[in-house]
Amino acid sequence: MGKPTGFMEVARMENPYRDEATRLRDFEDLHIAQPTDVRQAQASRCMNCGVPFCQSDFGCPLHNLIPEWNDLLYRGREREALERLLVTAPFPEFTGRVCPALCEKACNLESEALTNRDNELYLIETGFEKGWVQPRIPCKRTGRRVAVVGSGPAGLATADLLNRLGHAVTVIERADRAGGLLMYGIPSMKLPKAVVERRIQLMEAEGVRFLLNTEAGPGILSEYDAVALCGGAKKPRVLNVEGVFAVDYLTAATKAVLSGSEPVISARGKNVVVVGGGDTGNDCVGTALRQGCVSVVQLEMMPAPPVDRLPGNPWPEWPRTLRTDYGQLEALHRQGADPRIYETTVRRLLPGAIETVKLRGFDPIPGTEQVLPCDLMLIAAGFVGCEESTAAAFGAKCTQRGTLMPEDGSHHLRENLFSAGDMRTGQSLVVRALADGRAAAMEIHNWLGGKEA
Ligand SMILES: Cc1cc2nc3c(=O)[nH]c(=O)nc-3n(C[C@H](O)[C@H](O)[C@H](O)COP(=O)(O)OP(=O)(O)OC[C@H]3O[C@@H](n4cnc5c(N)ncnc54)[C@H](O)[C@@H]3O)c2cc1C
Ligand code: SF4
Repeated sequence: MGKPTGFMEVARMENPYRDEATRLRDFEDLHIAQPTDVRQAQASRCMNCGVPFCQSDFGCPLHNLIPEWNDLLYRGREREALERLLVTAPFPEFTGRVCPALCEKACNLESEALTNRDNELYLIETGFEKGWVQPRIPCKRTGRRVAVVGSGPAGLATADLLNRLGHAVTVIERADRAGGLLMYGIPSMKLPKAVVERRIQLMEAEGVRFLLNTEAGPGILSEYDAVALCGGAKKPRVLNVEGVFAVDYLTAATKAVLSGSEPVISARGKNVVVVGGGDTGNDCVGTALRQGCVSVVQLEMMPAPPVDRLPGNPWPEWPRTLRTDYGQLEALHRQGADPRIYETTVRRLLPGAIETVKLRGFDPIPGTEQVLPCDLMLIAAGFVGCEESTAAAFGAKCTQRGTLMPEDGSHHLRENLFSAGDMRTGQSLVVRALADGRAAAMEIHNWLGGKEA
């Protein structure tokens, strides 16, 4: 284990945020990376528990070997630590930035948990910096061809593993850049786009082919030995009033940051209302503030979560407690108040405003109507599954939840057709999409008659 007394001597320290006033001026990384001695001290806190919940089903979906690489990091054996991390984690530079760190919530140290996410990020960024991360080109090819539809985390993880197993992989993506929601969805300050492009270039050097600006159709079923549908689940929940969908707004914002131009949809000079109190809504708040909105509020239908865990939500489960994320902190700094208004929804649009109403459960409470200034309403009210058109084009039938989940719970839809990621499970997390993509890749490999190349 790390240092037997480390967890008693060293306090938890996450990579701190840049202060609000500075970070609101740009779309650069939110966090300040910490030097080697800090990360080593943090790694020394791992207790190497007899039952490491951090890497169990309660914790990391990739089952990362967390106690092992924390121990190696503590001992200054960074390169070996990175090698242990890469056994299970395909892209730690993504999870090290955007993962909600399920492992930390399952850590025996509870609120004083290890800083696994930051340690993971430190290891991979050190690896890139020192030239340890090089293209890993398979020494033998199987001669089998696989098409992966969609280049989000699920598609990238599927392609990465199949390529390592020796298959010839082509990723087909309709957008102009690869990455799915890693590129167009998650804002630049959470995940700089150069980080996504660096990985795509590495995968290309390893032999994965990317076809961008290309809509995949059923013709590829006869062209390739196997096809993995990883098209995501971005179909937004529609409200009774019209607004701009969060992903469209965030995509436009990222395109503007990348091209240095004005966004097609901008919050500049506007009163913004975000409908939806979750993580996507928070990203909209942070983006609107950076674009120079006049004001921003976030409406949430549900009551505010409790500050502490309730008895029905014990450790090591994910804590369903109140979290104040970076965008909400920035709104607090700029406006002096948390932007979230709970148990409230939008009732109708008015010129330059909206009418809201308070809810009891899902029922409006008469007499609680309120008018809020609004020039731009962003809808971040969740997702209801994948695009039926893509599913239908491939002759696949969606479940009631709008997903392509095979009846037996596998990844195999029929003949040479497979599914993975949000398209199979519904909108989830990057780390879950990665784990699902890797599981799909193994199923495809076995179906192709696979022995490791
Ligand atoms: C705004 C936002 C912020 C988020 N922030 C976080 C976060 O901080 N942390 C976290 O863990 N998770 C976050 N998530 C969730 C996470 O991004 C998703 O769970 C994850 O990206 C799903 O990966 P995926 O590969 O299944 O699908 P996606 O990332 O959605 O990728 C699917 C890709 O398939 C392409 N595609 C679809 N159909 C076709 C077709 N017919 N032909 C060609 N291409 C096609 C699409 O263009 C897209 O690029 C966020 C989600 C959103 C919306
Ligand atoms: S991927 Fe997420 S859950 Fe897994 S070790 Fe990293 S931060 Fe923890």
